[in-house]
Amino acid sequence: MRAANPVILDVPEEAGSAAFLVCWAGHGNAELLGYTARVAGGPSFLAASPATAQATTVAAANHTPVACTLAERAEIITSLAGRPGFDAGTARRAGIPVVVAATQGVLGAAPGIAEFAVDLVQAAGLGQLALVTEIVLDDGTGPHGLDGLATQRALVRVSGQEIIAERLRTEALAVRGPEVVLPTDHGLVLATGYRDTHSGAEHLVLRGPATERSARPVLHVHRECPTGDVFSSLSCSCRSELDTALADVAGSGSGIVVYLRGKPDRPLHHGPHLDDRQAHLVAFMIQDLSLHRVHLHHGDPRQRDALRGRGIGC
Ligand SMILES: [Zn+2]
Repeated sequence: MRAANPVILDVPEEAGSAAFLVCWAGHGNAELLGYTARVAGGPSFLAASPATAQATTVAAANHTPVACTLAERAEIITSLAGRPGFDAGTARRAGIPVVVAATQGVLGAAPGIAEFAVDLVQAAGLGQLALVTEIVLDDGTGPHGLDGLATQRALVRVSGQEIIAERLRTEALAVRGPEVVLPTDHGLVLATGYRDTHSGAEHLVLRGPATERSARPVLHVHRECPTGDVFSSLSCSCRSELDTALADVAGSGSGIVVYLRGKPDRPLHHGPHLDDRQAHLVAFMIQDLSLHRVHLHHGDPRQRDALRGRGIGC
């Protein structure tokens, strides 16, 4: 996204999907406002990061739309985009609603168009305020119509999934805590704690003392299972898998066991594969520990992609 170029943003919605024309609010001149209204056809709003908008004044201002000319509106929107803590009463004068994005943006729970739009302009280095216009295609052509629109107007298309993937691939997803030497039945391991920046859960990375010297240490990923791990329940194989992994790492002195934990109100799911966030979280911690190459114990394709996305050979 360049400053003056609107982008077509496809986002998943609860009922299907929707498309929006998104541009940087700081470039909100009258010509651009007219263009987006003409091309998109739907209603516009400003999506603001929580750091810039004051939610209480936003709520109050949104109830009192005021009409003004396109040029006046553009001037007000542009001035809002240049202000670190803008007054939503000013947005009211522009007659344009303001939607404040949630703190964690697209990485939070159930992100909507405001989160996607703000993260998009932030990723492009264009500030904290996006001008968003819903694309309404009245020809009934659906996604094909969007392709046509993109080609005809030379507009870039971005999907919500791409924005999420980019953040997962590049951001610090956990904060490293203390490292301790942990004696186990099988030998010594180094244990490093990580606090999840999203859930606050405390994960653990256990590795054999000689892991850094190994060319390609084995990586085991284990998801916490209280009934199996702690009470040795026989209704699943979690405990025996964890024991085998720890015996391998502590016994050989090399290898990694990542122990992903949930929270009491947010237990981990136990599907056959990691979800996107878990895969990227594991990759982040491996990268943070300066491990450049690993051998995946299970050939989880999503985990492989996440590791390679951070430059880790596997
Ligand atoms: Zn289990």
